[in-house]
Amino acid sequence: MITLKGLHKKFDELEVLKGIDLQVDRGKVVVVIGPSGSGKTTLLRCMNVLETPTAGEISIDNQTLDFTDSVSKKAISSFRRLTGMVFQSYNLFPHMTALGNVMEGPLTVKGESKEAVRKRAEELLSKVGLGDKLDYYPFQLSGGQQQRVGIARALAMEPKVMLFDEPTSALDPELVGEVLKVMKNLASEGMTMVVVTHEMRFAEEAADEVIFMDGGHIIERGAPSQIFTNPKEERTKQFLNMIQ
Ligand code: ADP
Repeated sequence: MITLKGLHKKFDELEVLKGIDLQVDRGKVVVVIGPSGSGKTTLLRCMNVLETPTAGEISIDNQTLDFTDSVSKKAISSFRRLTGMVFQSYNLFPHMTALGNVMEGPLTVKGESKEAVRKRAEELLSKVGLGDKLDYYPFQLSGGQQQRVGIARALAMEPKVMLFDEPTSALDPELVGEVLKVMKNLASEGMTMVVVTHEMRFAEEAADEVIFMDGGHIIERGAPSQIFTNPKEERTKQFLNMIQ
């Protein structure tokens, strides 16, 4: 479903991604871990071209962008629709209700009736446990509820892949579980997901594969049970010792 080949990203002289190769099969959940500054967020942002890679190739669901050549804006905007992104800060529109937030994206994409969009938005909000909060504004919702609206909003665009960038980092601890639960449900329904997170329990329970990044490289990858109990690389061991 996702293939990255030789992906590089530089910010001026700073090389943040130094040749990432990665394949994620359809329906799999990949959790990306690693120290702060190792390039995890940049990797995710490159996957939906919020950042333009300096070189390399990204394919999602048989659409390919090759950044060695120049890539047109049109190609990027069609590519971006393949992924839904959930951010650490929920970034909801403050002046719109939960329902309005979820409907906004699909409504700006022509071709669907408002009724169809509304129906899907209601279903998605029910699915994330907010069927009774359709008319609430973000300020009336807890952080966990806002993040669940964020997930519903991303799903409303019917992406092939969901990307999560530290979706629970901004939440009070007691609100983390409800968001992870929604993510686990999504995973069990077969959504292909790439998740940057510090929630090792989520990785243990939901990931098919854990990827450890450091210094712009993938250092090690494997099943969560292998990475967490028997990491091969010294840097992975050091990182896991620090966070446990
Ligand atoms: P992580 O998610 O692993 O903490 P990031 O991808 O956020 O790592 O950042 C990797 C490196 O890239 C850091 O040194 C960060 O300062 C730098 N960086 C990230 N975004 C930008 C940007 N827009 N401009 C310049 N440097 C950036």
